[in-house]
Amino acid sequence: MALIVQKYGGTSVGSIEKIQNVAKKVIEEHKKGNRMVVVLSAMSGETNKLIELAHQMTADPDTRELDVLMATGEQVSIALFSMAVKSMGYDACSLLGFQVGIRTDQIYGKARIQDIRTERVFQELEKNRIVSIAGFQGLDEEGNITTLGRGGSDTTAVAMAAALKADVCEIYTDVTGVFTTDPNICPRARKMDYISYEEMLEMASLGAKVLEIRSVEFAKKFNVPIHVRSTFSNERGTMVVSETKDMEKITVSGIAFNKNEARITISKVPDKPGIAAAIFNPLVKAGIVVDMIVQNTSEEGLTDLTFTVAKADFYKSMKFLSDVAKGIGAEKVLGDENIAKVSIIGVGMRTHAGVAQKMFTTLAKENINIMMISTSEIKISCVIEEKYTELAVRVLHEAFGLENGTQI
Ligand code: ADP
Ligand code: ASP
Ligand code: MG
Repeated sequence: MALIVQKYGGTSVGSIEKIQNVAKKVIEEHKKGNRMVVVLSAMSGETNKLIELAHQMTADPDTRELDVLMATGEQVSIALFSMAVKSMGYDACSLLGFQVGIRTDQIYGKARIQDIRTERVFQELEKNRIVSIAGFQGLDEEGNITTLGRGGSDTTAVAMAAALKADVCEIYTDVTGVFTTDPNICPRARKMDYISYEEMLEMASLGAKVLEIRSVEFAKKFNVPIHVRSTFSNERGTMVVSETKDMEKITVSGIAFNKNEARITISKVPDKPGIAAAIFNPLVKAGIVVDMIVQNTSEEGLTDLTFTVAKADFYKSMKFLSDVAKGIGAEKVLGDENIAKVSIIGVGMRTHAGVAQKMFTTLAKENINIMMISTSEIKISCVIEEKYTELAVRVLHEAFGLENGTQI
């Protein structure tokens, strides 16, 4: 008898029929004698609708109230799911984040889980009930409702699995597993049987939304094996696990892309100590996260500084920086929203030379200009024009032999 945590995403619970289908799947596992804890997302599109409502009310919704509003989406799903289970003759109990005791910090909209109580869930399981838990939400120490950031139900599921010491955490979604790249963009993408936590962390942070990044951080920290699989088939999915020796044989295991960043250049910045701090400190204070940063070599004591920020922060950043630029005597601030970051990822890169060169050559052959580059031990990212994203993903996928798993 196993303790299984399953998570179903928005598309898996997008209608009454779909929720009934999920209830049937969960009951099947329950009938085998397994104890079932089910984390649900809001029905597809609901969280966006709630955010839209808030913006109809005011241009800049209060963050505390926005969390109260957004958290309602998941409440609907777990209530309907429990009704479905009960109507099928089995016992169930739905629980909100605060009822479970999911404690977070107070960063509304992006709260971090700090602690999870398990008593209530175990009590309900003892009563032979199927327990459903609202994903994406928690409670801060003052008793305010918080949400964990978009895609946060994945994190709820993995954190619950860690806290309950579950045997497995299954993430059910609308694709059959983690692919070499987004299968909705590249039809030749191949499903992987295994991926390491490290690679999955990079894939998630570089734009592959199949798993939310914090869920992978949790899984890695507490060694929770994740099985990513489809709600709509019984096919075996992808196991996200610790790195094995075999994985190092493969140089590049996946490609990710992110169209949600914008590029900002501050030109002719005086090249002297304290300038980077003067530029980035106001952004940090405003909660704006800067990603890639490139500084050119200095000519006559002046340099250009280029970096990327989330598109959502672009206008705010441009406004801040035009003041900063004046203050430090820089020439001007230029912005470009039509960019994308395309990244290749693989733990095998650590020991293989020539990977970067192959990436650059492949893009060059298609006449795709590289505007920025950043590397780490297991990834290389290039910023390119947004309109070339799909093309870049496809040609890189082919160049690195990801389709059939044979690589240089
Ligand atoms: P859910 O609502 O179930 O949480 P998401 O939409 O958040 O589902 O994540 C699933 C989507 O992630 C897929 O439909 C797919 O388009 C996208 N995706 C991006 N990169 C990958 C990848 N490497 N493998 C699988 N899916 C990916
Ligand atoms: N409903 C939330 C969202 O749409 C959380 C989730 O689905 O994981 O982002
Ligand atoms: Mg998701």
